[in-house]
Amino acid sequence: MLTKMKNLKERCEEKNCELWEIALEDEIKITGKSEEEIWDRLQRTLDVMKKSAQAALETEIVSVTGMTGGNAKSMHDYFLKGESVLGDTPALAMAMALSTSEINAAMGIIAAAPTAGSSGILPATLMTMYKKYGYSDDELKKALLVTSAIGQVIFDNATFAGAEGGCQAETGSAAAMAAAAVCFLRGYDIQTQENAATAAILNILGLVCDPIGGMVEFPCNLRNANGVMNALASADMAMANVKMIVTFDEAVDALKRVGDVLPARLRETGEGGIAVCPSALKLKAKYIDGE
Ligand code: SF4
Repeated sequence: MLTKMKNLKERCEEKNCELWEIALEDEIKITGKSEEEIWDRLQRTLDVMKKSAQAALETEIVSVTGMTGGNAKSMHDYFLKGESVLGDTPALAMAMALSTSEINAAMGIIAAAPTAGSSGILPATLMTMYKKYGYSDDELKKALLVTSAIGQVIFDNATFAGAEGGCQAETGSAAAMAAAAVCFLRGYDIQTQENAATAAILNILGLVCDPIGGMVEFPCNLRNANGVMNALASADMAMANVKMIVTFDEAVDALKRVGDVLPARLRETGEGGIAVCPSALKLKAKYIDGE
């Protein structure tokens, strides 16, 4: 049966429990692993996320193609100057999202949550919550379970793949998962978690997938930085009780419908959008085609 947010909420209500507990129950059922094994795996995932979010902040990490790198350090240096218009929390969050993106482009170890292309958003969001509020690993692991429940709804009813649904499906999904996690960590209920995830999808609906040369580098790195902003802003709006007209299930259905009508050249082929700008083509010729 396809997982719907509506059913997840009903199960929480019936059992008088939280979303992370339902996600844990499902995880045990789907994987056949014990609860202890699931917590161990979550810890390993969290450890990878922590490392990747920090690794490129002080050292320039250049991608395998040589096309990108050093942006996380630039953003971190800028954060250290204390001059960000948005403020310290968003500036550091963006630097951490760029860090994981660069580790991914350099073929380092990342947690693809939900995909490698969008892997900067969740670690940067969780590390922001850790740095700002000092949440323990146990709380962050429960937050990861919340993200898995949100992700399951998207996976079952739409897609995570940029090649299928555009960047809305990758960085949009990651932002939705992260937004719900933020609300959970702040102690807000499942309805607020849903509203945050819904807002994150609505904010990015329609975004195309157009990486230069088909490589997951640019504009992917920028979209990870923007994705963590989307997650934090959507969570803040939900926690402020900004009204949501549509449900998360409806937003996911809309994401699927929009993805289905995106032309192939805007779905990770490197043949449309930013990928065919003259500067992008020049970069592709130099770094990828070796001309
Ligand atoms: S532009 Fe495409 S490849 Fe890059 S992050 Fe978005 S979906 Fe992934």
